[in-house]
Amino acid sequence: MNKKEIELVKILHNNNGKFISGENISDTLGVSRTAVWKYIKNLRKKGYIIESVPRRGYHLVEVPDKITVTEVLAGLKTNLIGKEVRVFSSIDSTNNKARELAKGGASGGTIVIAEEQTGGKGRLGRKWYSPPYTGLWFSVIVRPHLPSNRAPFLTIITSLVVKKAINKLGIEVLIKWPNDILIRGKKVCGILSEIMATPDVINTAIIGIGINVNQDSFPSKIPLATSLKQVCGHNVNRIELLQDILMEFENYYNRLKDGCYRDLVTEWKNSMDILGKEVDIVAGNEIISGKVVSISRRGELVLIDPDGNKHLFWAGDVTLRQKD
Ligand code: ADP
Repeated sequence: MNKKEIELVKILHNNNGKFISGENISDTLGVSRTAVWKYIKNLRKKGYIIESVPRRGYHLVEVPDKITVTEVLAGLKTNLIGKEVRVFSSIDSTNNKARELAKGGASGGTIVIAEEQTGGKGRLGRKWYSPPYTGLWFSVIVRPHLPSNRAPFLTIITSLVVKKAINKLGIEVLIKWPNDILIRGKKVCGILSEIMATPDVINTAIIGIGINVNQDSFPSKIPLATSLKQVCGHNVNRIELLQDILMEFENYYNRLKDGCYRDLVTEWKNSMDILGKEVDIVAGNEIISGKVVSISRRGELVLIDPDGNKHLFWAGDVTLRQKD
């Protein structure tokens, strides 16, 4: 990662649409004009289109539609989340890589992003389809030191964060308990939180987020998938969406650390349409049917079966199917 290059990209973005002189850039960066020229040449090699006109300077025309550390960091205004960003062109799973990095001592707030996952995963070993250059496939490493029974809150805040960021694009979504985000009944995002904890404390959590952004279509084996592009009709800037999610994540993570559990559960409840519905829940080999009466203070789904027995389900432990 080259700090000056990131600074330069920031300057070019901030001057979008306008020229900025080489002299101005060299003063701001504290490097020679020849060095500025070299940085510009390097960025062009990476796919940036930068116009240069004598006596007027440089002008950013186009940014490559690729996720790069430089682009992510150039527009990121967080303190913790994204402190370190690792980008891979193709890996099996960002959660696996993040776990490996976490075990090797990566600091909380590290982000692992892949343009493509060859072994993207959902819950219970299910596959997550993650084709190149169209989605946002990434994992966040956090070191929350929260009580272990607060684990569902990591998925809760993540779903609220993604919902908020997608809403800002003018798209309505619903959270499907426990870990999916749907647009008109189709899945646009999946969340997979993996926890490293003692019985008392969550030391490390890897939160995997997969968002379908610019896919035009999906394989027939996942008919209930949709992308943001399919909904809004145009490409969505993946970097800006990612930056927005990381910003929101930091806000919600701070609220979680501050113990705002009640507010978070209330917000989560209001983002679902499951309360009062008759459902089947598959937990292990058992299927339990009943009515969802509440979400508990700890984020569990509370279900009453036809015999009046109460069942509590932790987020992440069950598969839920709504009766039609
Ligand atoms: P579930 O929705 O059953 O809780 P997961 O959240 O674990 O499952 O996600 C895995 C499931 O999501 C897969 O079995 C498949 O049906 C579906 N799926 C896989 N890739 C995608 C994708 N890119 N977009 C939407 N749905 C997907």
